[in-house]
Amino acid sequence: MRYLILSDIHANIDALEAVLAATPAWDRVLVLGDLVGYGAAPNAVVDRVRALDPSAVIRGNHDKAACGLDDGSNFNQVARFAAAWTHQQLTADNREYLRELPQGPTQIDDRLEICHGAPFDEDHYIFDGSDAAHALQTATRAVCLFGHTHLPVIFTLNGTLLTADLPEVQPQTIPFDPATRYLINPGSVGQPRDGDPRAGFALYDPEGSLELRRVDYNVSAAQKRISSAGLPQSLANRLAIGR
Ligand code: ZN
Repeated sequence: MRYLILSDIHANIDALEAVLAATPAWDRVLVLGDLVGYGAAPNAVVDRVRALDPSAVIRGNHDKAACGLDDGSNFNQVARFAAAWTHQQLTADNREYLRELPQGPTQIDDRLEICHGAPFDEDHYIFDGSDAAHALQTATRAVCLFGHTHLPVIFTLNGTLLTADLPEVQPQTIPFDPATRYLINPGSVGQPRDGDPRAGFALYDPEGSLELRRVDYNVSAAQKRISSAGLPQSLANRLAIGR
């Protein structure tokens, strides 16, 4: 039994299809939010995710903005433009699907929970050690997976010792130590920001490990979709550099 972990797909169907094609065998899917926003294929991504029949999907801030649950007033200009464009593009059915997505955190099993931003606030960005410590204290499971920052990172807490590891070599397998708590961002499928343009994702094995992986995808196809949709060119450009 293995779970495929997808976060921050951001309407990038080219990246999502590459992940699904390249991934070793998995049984169930978990989605950590931000299915849409920024990218040019919101309906294709929502349709594809729905067809995967995930065990759990939680909403992200861009999902809320795209379905009208949030007015996007705290978004920057580019994100707000993309959210309004996405709102218009989405079918009524897909908009309703996003509107019904639950807020994290969601407990998956005795070991694992998932959230979009942080377990204490779905919209909070976990960047540093103090945010990570707060999240590790709030999490109700030994392993908490989060997204939102689009930056792969592994925080571990062993006793009072907090460490942060940026996974530069991937694939990388993290075997879970029973005395340690974990807070892990698997990276973004559709808009990586760690300088590596490849799509990021993870595989969770309930027997006791998580594997972080990256896969190449057709970046120029995703860029062309963004350009021809009339979305801001910066959204296309950043995909090539993974920022
Ligand atoms: Zn996001």
